[in-house]
Amino acid sequence: MRQKHIQRKSRLLTRAILCLLATLIVLPTFTLRPHFGQTTFDYGDALEKAMWFFDANKCGPNAATDNVFSWRAACHTSDGSAASPARDLTGGFHDAGDHVKFGLPQGYSASVLGWSLYEYRAEFDSAGMTAKTLRTLKYYTDYFLKSHPNATTFYYQVGDGNADHGFWGSPELQTGSRPLIVATPSSPAGPSRAPSRPLQAPSTPSTKAARTAS
Ligand SMILES: [Zn+2]
Repeated sequence: MRQKHIQRKSRLLTRAILCLLATLIVLPTFTLRPHFGQTTFDYGDALEKAMWFFDANKCGPNAATDNVFSWRAACHTSDGSAASPARDLTGGFHDAGDHVKFGLPQGYSASVLGWSLYEYRAEFDSAGMTAKTLRTLKYYTDYFLKSHPNATTFYYQVGDGNADHGFWGSPELQTGSRPLIVATPSSPAGPSRAPSRPLQAPSTPSTKAARTAS
């Protein structure tokens, strides 16, 4: 009986010590937060700013429409003129700091954005970002309809990233026709397509030996 009593007291003491340790560990965390001046995080504000990234990268004659950045204006209004026959491939979004438009990354970005809205609609609503997100998605889909005119044709790149890296200016100042790449049954995308730059075979001991021998 006495042994059971001692064991019970021992368990209670152990729990008390664990509670105290937990309190000592957690309390400084809370007391330190005001020290860094950051007690809460405004995820609604973060979401709004994340959406602004899309506005910064809008392309086409309507780039300035529904755009938070007053310095944005129409750009790359001749996209698609290099096609034969010429077609309208304006719109969509620049890839990042350069101005090339890649089909697959745009598809991924639009999918993740749409999926986010689908999964977290209440959060988008409470942040007042639902309408803006839907308009951004429409801007994407308008472009996809242009770049995917039928089941077997996909204009998956407009512009040249290497050329863009040598151009230090705003997209509005980058005028003229831009190169484009299209995937069709006779010219599919992927490794089977002849690359614009020939692939260099890596040097191997056998090729080095062959050069030495010759
Ligand atoms: Zn543009």
